[in-house]
Amino acid sequence: MGGIRKILNKPEKEFSAASNKHGLFSEVSGAIHIHTRFSDGEVDFPELVTAAKEVGLDFIVVTDHMSLEGKEKGFEGFYETLFVVIGYEHNDSNNKNHYLAIGTDKVIEEQDSPQRYIDLIRSAGGIGFLAHPAEERQYFKKYPSYPWTEWDVSGYDGIEVWNHMSEWVENLKSWRSFIRIFYPRRFLKGVPPGLLKKWDELNRTSFISGIGGVDAHTFTYGKGFFKFQIFPIKVELKGIRTHLYIPDNISNCEFVEAKDACLRALKNGNGYISNYRQGDAKGTELFLRYADDTLVPPGCSGRNPSLPASLSISIPLEAEIRVIRNGVQVSRKVGVYHNFDITGNGLYRIEVFRKKKAWIYSNPFPIGSYPLY
Ligand SMILES: [Zn+2]
Ligand SMILES: [Zn+2]
Repeated sequence: MGGIRKILNKPEKEFSAASNKHGLFSEVSGAIHIHTRFSDGEVDFPELVTAAKEVGLDFIVVTDHMSLEGKEKGFEGFYETLFVVIGYEHNDSNNKNHYLAIGTDKVIEEQDSPQRYIDLIRSAGGIGFLAHPAEERQYFKKYPSYPWTEWDVSGYDGIEVWNHMSEWVENLKSWRSFIRIFYPRRFLKGVPPGLLKKWDELNRTSFISGIGGVDAHTFTYGKGFFKFQIFPIKVELKGIRTHLYIPDNISNCEFVEAKDACLRALKNGNGYISNYRQGDAKGTELFLRYADDTLVPPGCSGRNPSLPASLSISIPLEAEIRVIRNGVQVSRKVGVYHNFDITGNGLYRIEVFRKKKAWIYSNPFPIGSYPLY
């Protein structure tokens, strides 16, 4: 797979993390939560694959509503530099509580209780993410909001922290907003603070992974002569991306192995979310580093990280790097590199801003035993 860049051009001895048996991590960047013509999207698979390759993505995850038709028709797999994973988006009988199910072979029957479909998807071997959990759409009656309402559920793997479509529609408030229709990526500011707070709270007691979603529908706006596509697919794929650190180069492996590595990293939160509009974040290095140079990626590391350690942060373009501990900013630096010494347990995250807009959100680094704070 030519699209994968080996990260960290450092001596191999530095990569001895327990989660990294093979000596090196590779980074893959992808777009998750895409709809095609098999549900309410306006793109078919060949067009989508071509566009994803053209914008330099390594993987995409398609999630049509209550449909795995793409998978059944054989569209899942490698396409030279791109690999395509097909899951689906489940909803309850009121079309609420949308849930991204990835890694299952069948659409389970519609269920009233979100806990029920979370459990059924897990027992079928899949992983799942609460989709656009904090969506609010007050100004656009034609497109109602679909927030997550059942927060007592358990057994899901993560939440869609940054959803392109939700943020865009929420901001569509007045006639001035028509400019947003022509420049759909320009107005992404960042994850709503309330949702970040919720994510931190959830991570206090157990690890909850975060992903970025495109929620690409490529819907058209207006009628007749004035009808045009708001989100052409290539524009959508140049927005919110999810980057994963996977412990091996998957260029020579079978699709099943590549998919397994991708799903494991998604579930364990081994990576970060970026907005491509603020710059191509690929090459970003966010690791917990021990005194012996062992590196641990963000997320659930499979071990209980011990201290002392530092957060080792390297980004490809100059920006404002923030370190967040237990929901509070504890360090800030403008530059391309930051080393932050960790002396206390807690939940750590990294945020990076460019030109006052959010560019990168790492998955959390949980340090210590639960509850973390
Ligand atoms: Zn949805
Ligand atoms: Zn969707």
